[in-house]
Amino acid sequence: MIRRLRPKLDPKKPFVAISSESSLDFKTGAQRSEKPVFINKVAPCRHACPIGINIPAAFHLASNGDFDGALQVYLQDNPLPGVCGRVCYHPCESKCNRGEYDDPVNIRSFERFLADNGHVDVTTLLRPSTSSKSVAVVGSGPAGLSAAYHLARMGYNISLFESRPALGGMLRYGIPRYRLPRSVLDKEIDRFLDLGVEVKLNTTVGDSLPWSSLDEYDAVFLSTGLHYGKRLFPSSGLQDRIFTGVDFLSDRESSPLKDAGEKTLIIGGGNVAVDVARTLLRIRCGQGNGITLVCPESREQMPALPDDLVEAMEEGLDVHNGWAPVELKEGAQRPIAVGFRQADVERDETTGQIAVRPVGDACRQYEADHMIVAIGQELDAGMLPEQVQVSSGRIVINSFGRTSRAGFFAGGDAAGNKAFVADAIAGGKLGAMAIACFFQDEDVKEQFKEYQLGMSKSFSFQHFMQRQLMESENLKQVVGFDQINTLFFPPHPRVSPSKAAVQTRKTAFTEVVNGIHPAEMSLEIARCFNCGTCIDCGNCMDFCPDMSILEDAESGIYDFDADYCKGCGACSVACPRNIIEMERDTG
Ligand SMILES: Cc1cc2nc3c(=O)[nH]c(=O)nc-3n(C[C@H](O)[C@H](O)[C@H](O)COP(=O)(O)OP(=O)(O)OC[C@H]3O[C@@H](n4cnc5c(N)ncnc54)[C@H](O)[C@@H]3O)c2cc1C
Ligand code: SF4
Ligand code: SF4
Repeated sequence: MIRRLRPKLDPKKPFVAISSESSLDFKTGAQRSEKPVFINKVAPCRHACPIGINIPAAFHLASNGDFDGALQVYLQDNPLPGVCGRVCYHPCESKCNRGEYDDPVNIRSFERFLADNGHVDVTTLLRPSTSSKSVAVVGSGPAGLSAAYHLARMGYNISLFESRPALGGMLRYGIPRYRLPRSVLDKEIDRFLDLGVEVKLNTTVGDSLPWSSLDEYDAVFLSTGLHYGKRLFPSSGLQDRIFTGVDFLSDRESSPLKDAGEKTLIIGGGNVAVDVARTLLRIRCGQGNGITLVCPESREQMPALPDDLVEAMEEGLDVHNGWAPVELKEGAQRPIAVGFRQADVERDETTGQIAVRPVGDACRQYEADHMIVAIGQELDAGMLPEQVQVSSGRIVINSFGRTSRAGFFAGGDAAGNKAFVADAIAGGKLGAMAIACFFQDEDVKEQFKEYQLGMSKSFSFQHFMQRQLMESENLKQVVGFDQINTLFFPPHPRVSPSKAAVQTRKTAFTEVVNGIHPAEMSLEIARCFNCGTCIDCGNCMDFCPDMSILEDAESGIYDFDADYCKGCGACSVACPRNIIEMERDTG
């Protein structure tokens, strides 16, 4: 039996100890075996973005109404937020922690919103020029614009050479304006030009200008893209009936395919094929009966961006999946007849290459007036400078964009496996880092490792420019969903943009997807957990039983009061965004 001993109470003395003096006299910090450490980390959206944009920091600034500041965060890594905010395949969203709670945050729409509503003078992001080194950038698509932008910011002298009469590459001569209005592209290019880059239009290096003219530059960045549409049945005598998707899109005004009474067959399942079909629909004033798209992929395998495919289907696009073209001949009713075999497709996820295999005996034939082939683009290897090695249709580069010729670097579609805008911008950014290291005799591998975000292929350009990491930052640690305290985030549905009515958009090139209204955007901004980014919410202060959280008045950085913090860890649990970790206190 247990006998409990009770203290004898003295009625003249209080039942509990009461201090009539300040608790500051009790230096409870002596009890501590662990201490809180405040460190900003990497959000998974940033880790997944090929360009490595600091998305939670931008959401934080925007939540305080500072849209210019938020746009500036984007511009630290990405010169084209208005473009990416419209056409990026947004891998950031598929890794967003909020996706495990209700719906991923609409990061792409947020990027577009900032680009449309924010204002930044990019010359404030420039480092004063201290270098006489010069770089020739060949090709002005997203890869070339990105390389030129980041190199110019670092103070190098840049000349940008472009074959066409205007800058932008496939952003101008490929992606249709109903997805990317030219006013948006022009605005971003004007901002880029504020950096003082010298531009030479209508200049094809290797043709109108010999490669030897670039000998005066200290380095060259090749971003020439893939411009030759792959052909089908090249030796058939019916070539006047066949166009490539990229040729058609680059000059739709003079297309001979305007007649809605004619039948046009489009071959391919990617963005180019879908854009060809939707463009043709528009130049035929919404009459889509004569337009048929056939591809070997199943609907789920089609490489076209899912949102674009949905919009195309809403517009009535006629898609036939699982058929590979095998024969072209003259038709009985129409000038051409294309024979198809039932097919299935295997995609190599590393290289993006597909293998099409005919399956079964089923055959089909379509007769048409014309065929537009959109089955991928090729490199014009013949025009590249000597000693630049090419393999499997791409310029050979090492992990940091260096080609086989000294002083020549490359990026974007011409050198990459992925043909997307964000990856091209990332290639330009990495090329800029590699060229800067080349000039400064630094090991690019070491520099990349220092500023790499987690284990991703991206890095923080701002940190690289400043060659400095803050003590309160860890670029290697990525915050997972289980590290977020969701108690502080009420569920709320994702805000999505509205779209133009199908009937209106089928007949015009006006933008299909509308921007999100500021009032609705503020709801979406509030949905972001700001994973790994301290937003000064003060939860740690509120929950600390010892009032031991201190804030540096100037920097806003938090620390703890060593005299009083008992190391209980309440702040670490209360932090919604995983900034505070408890560490053994050996001091
Ligand atoms: C129709 C279409 C739709 C697309 N839709 C999307 C989409 O929705 N989302 C997405 O992420 N991606 C999309 N893409 C892919 C995207 O556009 C490309 O991945 C991206 O543009 C590649 O950028 P780049 O800078 O490597 O090359 P490009 O954009 O191709 O630019 C290369 C530039 O180099 C110039 N050039 C070439 N050779 C020379 C030379 N010798 N001298 C001077 N200049 C030269 C060319 O004229 C061109 O301007 C689409 C592509 C097409 C064609
Ligand atoms: S560039 Fe693409 S991946 Fe990066 S934040 Fe924007 S939408 Fe997301
Ligand atoms: S909640 Fe915000 S910070 Fe976290 S992954 Fe999503 S967008 Fe990024």
